Amino acid sequence: MLDRSGTPRERPVEPGRVRRFNAHDPGQGGPGPWLRVWPAEAPVSEGRWCEEMGKSVLHQGFTARQPHGNNWLAGESYRCPMTSKTSLPPLGLAPPADDAGRKRIAARLGINVPSQWWPTAPMLKGFEAAGFRWVQVHTPPRGVLCDRRDAARQHAAALRATLATCGLQLVLHGPDDLSAGTPEHDRALDGLLEYAAATRARYVVYHGANFPIADGGQQAAVTRDRARAEEAALQERLDRLESLGVTLAVENLAPVFPGPPRLCHSPAVVHGLVQRLGSPRVRMLLDIGHAHITGSASEALRSATDEISLFHLHDNFGCSRPANAAPALDPLRLDLHLAPGNGRVPWRQLAPRLADHPAPLVLEVHPPNRPEPLSVARVTTELLAGRATRVDGSRSAVADGGRPSRVPLG
Ligand SMILES: [Zn+2]
Repeated sequence: MLDRSGTPRERPVEPGRVRRFNAHDPGQGGPGPWLRVWPAEAPVSEGRWCEEMGKSVLHQGFTARQPHGNNWLAGESYRCPMTSKTSLPPLGLAPPADDAGRKRIAARLGINVPSQWWPTAPMLKGFEAAGFRWVQVHTPPRGVLCDRRDAARQHAAALRATLATCGLQLVLHGPDDLSAGTPEHDRALDGLLEYAAATRARYVVYHGANFPIADGGQQAAVTRDRARAEEAALQERLDRLESLGVTLAVENLAPVFPGPPRLCHSPAVVHGLVQRLGSPRVRMLLDIGHAHITGSASEALRSATDEISLFHLHDNFGCSRPANAAPALDPLRLDLHLAPGNGRVPWRQLAPRLADHPAPLVLEVHPPNRPEPLSVARVTTELLAGRATRVDGSRSAVADGGRPSRVPLG
């Protein structure tokens, strides 16, 4: 059902037709066997449900064509495109929020500079003006860190000079394909730590345990040996990390597209690696969006909370997609990196524990899905403050009966 501008109208669902779905039940659109490598945990995936005139309605996420006001949870909405003829959404529906709590959350927020982008001074000033305290920047690729140290030093000096134009603190994101435990990768890791020292980074994001899971046989032995070699290489660098005062934040990952499982897709595996290393300078980075794809973000947060020193926040639809939801998005991509509130991460469920935790909260939002920084900061703050209200303008994601469609895996 479209209105004159081609935008689908909200279509409330009849009482009794709306149902929660179990993201881990294949019969209800759950993951295929490629994801079921760990015991299923906390199975119910939270949508955004509200009671409206006695009916339950599940709202879907933001798309470029969505009318403003997708702010049932937040009490704030992402701003309309400049071409929109509609006015700003009403803001008066939310209950009074705890200002002190919201300020504490806002003071922990950071935002990513997308991979392969260079952070210009105006960009950084824009982040700062939007209220962010942290910025995440990617390092040069592994080959540069490994074998072209002079070039890496020049790059680090330039980054430091750019950062000097603002007060943002730095989170460095290391190369995605860096896995310590071979001579070449270890040289790159040493180059990464040198780069971190030169840029005065507080955290270095590292993809640990990034090895394929094999079902026995030769590959299983290769994976096991490779993981042990990585752990030993990290152990050897604990003193260096402590003398630099930089924290290696080991991140749980998720498949970007459907594909074979890897050790790092399990937050529990990453948590175990961090616990065994046992250093205050090697901590866990819990990526909430990734954890929502591979299992239960709430369970991952609860079980690893004491070892977490950094969060990545972004949204997605988990391992299945609602029927007709977000047609502007890639229909196969799982790891969408949407702005918080625009997918099905259960922010309301996560909010109390996230709000109470001291670790920085770095937003990782993919450029095509990224509202301007001020909106992202405001909406995220409201989500984590647990401010919940219904706001007109959302659309139903369950217009066709509420059954999520399975992402085709074959
Ligand atoms: Zn991440």
